[in-house]
Amino acid sequence: MKSLLTILFFCSLNMLLNETTPNYSKDELLGTFDPAQHVDFKPVPSEFTQKTNIYLRIEVLQQFDQMFQSAKRDGIELEIVSATRNYNYQKGIWERKWKRSKYMGWQNMDKVLDIMKYSSMPGTSRHHWGTDIDLNHLNNDYFETGKGQELYNWLVECAPNYGFHQVYTSKEQGRTGYQEEKWHWSYLPLSEEMLTQYNEKIRSSDLPSFSGVEQVDSLNIFQRYVNGIETN
Ligand SMILES: [Zn+2]
Repeated sequence: MKSLLTILFFCSLNMLLNETTPNYSKDELLGTFDPAQHVDFKPVPSEFTQKTNIYLRIEVLQQFDQMFQSAKRDGIELEIVSATRNYNYQKGIWERKWKRSKYMGWQNMDKVLDIMKYSSMPGTSRHHWGTDIDLNHLNNDYFETGKGQELYNWLVECAPNYGFHQVYTSKEQGRTGYQEEKWHWSYLPLSEEMLTQYNEKIRSSDLPSFSGVEQVDSLNIFQRYVNGIETN
């Protein structure tokens, strides 16, 4: 009897623990960590990507695996072309674009807005979270004809069954921020909570330094970009 009670106690304790909302650290939200050293992350196997040493949260990878197999049965080949990108990686992309010769003589504000059509400021990317993936081609045109269109139609219909949603949709309905990205899919069961905690915990003063960081508040980057998503 006593041991039964003990078992019941541990079961309910476990249920309680499982239902507790995870508390994401500022480092996890800003990407200022190394996913290779994080216990909740695993490398993406070569079956799913041609890249080496790219990482996702374990739950996201498990769900992607399910989606990948189901797509394969339907003759669709999914390929992850980008997964977790940490702050340093994103800063590398950002600073490279910042120095492009076409920006000679531009105001910082205009540079930020131009780069942010498709690329995030370091510290503000959903790719920091380990919940978001880019699939197959980083080009909307690819998804509008032939094989690419078949793939996209499959994703629109089936990806939500596995928790994945296109968050950067067409801007025709008034969504703000980045242009449409038919390749970017977010695992909402985790990323919705991460966005909530990002909004609660992160202020512009938390962002480490990079070119143009002073524009974050004046351009309303958190409101218009970080929150400029569709979750239907
Ligand atoms: Zn992306």
